[in-house]
Amino acid sequence: MAGTGPEELPPAAHTIREFEHGYEEESRLRGFRSACGFVTATWGLVCPACGARDLAEHALSGRGRIVAGTVQTVPSDEFLNDAPYAYVVVELDEGGRMTGWMPGVRRDADLHLGDRVRWRPSYKPGVIFERDDGAAPEGRP
Ligand SMILES: [Zn+2]
Repeated sequence: MAGTGPEELPPAAHTIREFEHGYEEESRLRGFRSACGFVTATWGLVCPACGARDLAEHALSGRGRIVAGTVQTVPSDEFLNDAPYAYVVVELDEGGRMTGWMPGVRRDADLHLGDRVRWRPSYKPGVIFERDDGAAPEGRP
């Protein structure tokens, strides 16, 4: 049936499970990079920028800036003891965006778009970001 079925995709550089295992147990964030330079933190098989099937594993620092967020006051069960907290979208320094949460950010007034944050490995569920008051990486404002 050559030519009638879907094209076969190459294997991914890592699985979704390996991605989750990385931040939950190995203190590392796995992303993907295409030869075109596009970096993403979202698991996939094809570069969303150029369509190439060349995504290779790319280590992410977990540092970036808050580009969107909200304070959650009605959490799901696993976050009951941490509410309220901020749920944020972070633009990573390498490229790509990740969602995560920030324990201890309890009011909208304490959540500022553009603030620098960094990923903090934790025994708690999900991806946790904390404020990063350190110097910006070289070449960044
Ligand atoms: Zn690409």
